[in-house]
Amino acid sequence: MNASSIELLVTKTKDFSLEETLAFVAKEYPGEVVFSTSFGQEDQVITDFIARNNIDITIFTLDTGRLFQETYDVFHRTLKKYKKPIEVYFPEAAAVENLLKQKGPNSFYDSVENRKECCFIRKVVPLRKALSGNKVWITGLRAEQSENRQDLNLFEYDANFEIIKFNPLLKWTLQEVEDHLKEYSVPQNALHKQGFVSIGCAPCTRAILPDEDIRAGRWWWESSHKECGLHSAKKE
Ligand code: SF4
Repeated sequence: MNASSIELLVTKTKDFSLEETLAFVAKEYPGEVVFSTSFGQEDQVITDFIARNNIDITIFTLDTGRLFQETYDVFHRTLKKYKKPIEVYFPEAAAVENLLKQKGPNSFYDSVENRKECCFIRKVVPLRKALSGNKVWITGLRAEQSENRQDLNLFEYDANFEIIKFNPLLKWTLQEVEDHLKEYSVPQNALHKQGFVSIGCAPCTRAILPDEDIRAGRWWWESSHKECGLHSAKKE
C-alpha cells in the first residue's frame, strides 16, 4: 500500500497550501491521522494550522515524566487558546519503577546505552502505542534541524513504526517558523527566550550558544546521535 499511497499524496497535494494538504490528508484517512507535539516552536505552528482551520486530526503528546515546567505551561496555554483536546501518553509505570529501582533516576548520564534505555521506556514505547492503528503520523521535523534530517521527504514511509510520515515543515526555515508564531500569536515555550531551541526532557536539554548547532543542547554530554529513537529508531 505504501509506495502508491505516498505517490498519491505527493501528486495530489503538490500545488496545495499547508492547510489544504493537512485537510486533504485528514479526509483521505479519516480518523487515522495523528500529530505528535512536544510543544516546540515547529509543533506549535502545526497545532495552530490544525486548530485554527478546524482540521480533523488528533493531536497527542508524550509526557515522559521529566518535562520542564515551562513545557507544561505552554501545553496549558495551548489548550486554553485552541480549545482542542490533546491526548497524553505516559510511559508504563512498572517499566519506570523498575528502571529507577535498578539504576536510579539519572542513569541516562552514565552511558549511551542507559540513555537509550530511558528514551525507549519513556518515549519510544508510548509513541508506538499512540501511533498504533493509525495510517499517517504528522511531525514538526525540519531539514535544517540536523544532518540526519537532510534526507527526509515531505511524505515517507516509516518502516519502524509502519506508518506514513508527513513532515509539513520540512523546508521551513527557523525564521519562517518564528514569523508564523508571531503573526498568529501562538503560545510558545518560555525557554525559547532563554536560548533553548530544541526542547525535550529537563535533565537532557540545555540552552545553546548563538553559534552552536540547533540540537547541540540535546544530550550534550554525548558526542553523537542527537536523536531519541522517535525519528531514528533504525539507527539507534
Ligand atoms: Fe530519559 Fe532524557 Fe530520554 Fe527524557 S530525554 S526519556 S529523561 S534519557
